[in-house]
Amino acid sequence: MGKLSEQEFQAYLKQIRELTEGTFDKMQKDIEVTNVFPEEFYQLGIKNNLYRCSLPTEYGGWGLSELEILKVQEEFSRGPGGMRMHLHYAMDLNWRPLYDFGSKELKAELMPGFQDRSVFTCWAVTEETGGTGADIKTTAVKDGDDYIINGEKFLISHTDCCNYAYITVLTDPNADKDHRLSTFMVPCATPGYEVTPMPHMMGCRGSGHTGLKFTNMRVNKKYLLGKEGDGLHISIHSLSVSRVHIAASNLGMAQRMLDISLKRAHDRITFGKPIIERQAIRMKIADMATHIHALRTMVYDFAKDYELDPHGEYIEEKAAMCKLFSIWVTKVCGDEMLEIFGGIGYFEDCEYGPTERLYRDSRAMWLEEGTPTVQRITISRQTIKHGGHLEYLD
Ligand SMILES: Cc1cc2nc3c(=O)[nH]c(=O)nc-3n(C[C@H](O)[C@H](O)[C@H](O)COP(=O)(O)OP(=O)(O)OC[C@H]3O[C@@H](n4cnc5c(N)ncnc54)[C@H](O)[C@@H]3O)c2cc1C
Repeated sequence: MGKLSEQEFQAYLKQIRELTEGTFDKMQKDIEVTNVFPEEFYQLGIKNNLYRCSLPTEYGGWGLSELEILKVQEEFSRGPGGMRMHLHYAMDLNWRPLYDFGSKELKAELMPGFQDRSVFTCWAVTEETGGTGADIKTTAVKDGDDYIINGEKFLISHTDCCNYAYITVLTDPNADKDHRLSTFMVPCATPGYEVTPMPHMMGCRGSGHTGLKFTNMRVNKKYLLGKEGDGLHISIHSLSVSRVHIAASNLGMAQRMLDISLKRAHDRITFGKPIIERQAIRMKIADMATHIHALRTMVYDFAKDYELDPHGEYIEEKAAMCKLFSIWVTKVCGDEMLEIFGGIGYFEDCEYGPTERLYRDSRAMWLEEGTPTVQRITISRQTIKHGGHLEYLD
C-alpha cells in the first residue's frame, strides 16, 4: 500500500482514536495489575497497521510523512501510557537506526520484518554505573570478523517482546570523546545475552523494562551500524527524532486532559451554576489550550524541517526544545485537569476518563530520551553554536 489520500488519513486517525480510548483503555484495567500486555494488544497493533504505517514504502510501509507519523502518534498517546510507550517506539526508534545507519545487506534482511513485528528491537544505552554517552562502560573488542561484547545495561524498555537489541558500546577508549562508541544491532538469541529483572514502574504499566547483561557475547561485524566510532552520532541523531515523538506523545496526552476537563466543567454544578461559567475555571482552560497550541506549533514546525532535511542543522536543537517544552505542557495540563476535576479526579475509573492514570503515566516523559537537564544541555550547546539564532532570524 502506498500513500493515503487526505480523506483516508483522517479516517485512519479517527480509527486509532476510537481504538485507543475504547478497546485499549478497557484492556488496560487488567494490565495495571498484571503489568503484561496480552497477545491481543500486539495483534490489534498489527491489524490496525501501527507497526507498518510509519515504515518507508520500500519496506512494506505506507510512507507517511513525518508530520503524518506525528499525528498518528498524538492519537494513540491519548490512551494508556504503556501502550503509548510501545507504539511510540514501534513507529520510530524501533526501525529508524537500522534504516539510517545499517548496511545494505542488513537492511535487506531485517527491514521488511518490522511491518508485522517479526522483527522488534530494544534500544539499550543507559547503564547503572555511569552517565550516558562518552561514560559508557560496556565494551566491544574486535576478534577477527567478530566483536566480543561484555557489560550491563539497565532501565531498558521492550526487552520482553524484542528479538534484536540496539546496543551502544565502547570500542576505543583512546579515541577522542566523539568517536569512542559504536552501535550494534544484536540478535537477542546470541549466546551471552541475558535479561535481568527490574521492579514495577509508577505508570506506563505493561511495557516491559529490565536490565541486560552481556557475557563474552560474540557478534559478527555485519551487525555494526555505520562505522566503528559512529555510536555517539548514531545515538544523538536517533534520539533527536525520538524526542519529537515524545513531544507528540505529550501533545496527545495534554489534549485528552483538556478534552475531559471541558466535559467535566460543563457537567459539574456548584452553587447553582456549571463550573465552566466561573472565571477561575476559564483561566485554567485558557492556560491549557495555549500551552497545547504552542506545543502543536513546535512539533509541526519540526516535522517541516525534518521533511526538508532529516540531518539538517537545527534538527537536534529543535527536537530537544520540543521535548523540553512538551514536559511543561503536560505538567500544566495535568495539574489544571486535577484542579478542575476536584476530588473525583484523584480516583480510578473516573467516568470522564482515566485522570489519575494520565497523571502517573505522564511522569515517564520526564525521563524517556533524556531528562529536562539533558535537553537544556543540548539546547544551550546548539544555541551558543548558532549565536542565539534559529534559521528564521538574520
Ligand atoms: C520509563 C523509562 C523507560 C526507559 N527506557 C530506556 C530505554 O529503552 N533505553 C535506554 O537506554 N534507557 C532507557 N531509560 C533510561 C532513561 O533514558 C534515563 O533514566 C534518563 O536518561 C536519565 O538517566 P539516569 O536514570 O541514568 O539518571 P542520572 O544520570 O542518574 O541523572 C540523575 C539526575 O542528575 C542529572 N545529571 C546527570 N548527569 C548530569 C550532568 N552531567 N550534568 C548535569 N546534571 C546531570 C540528571 O539530569 C538527573 O536530574 C528509560 C527510563 C525510564 C524511566
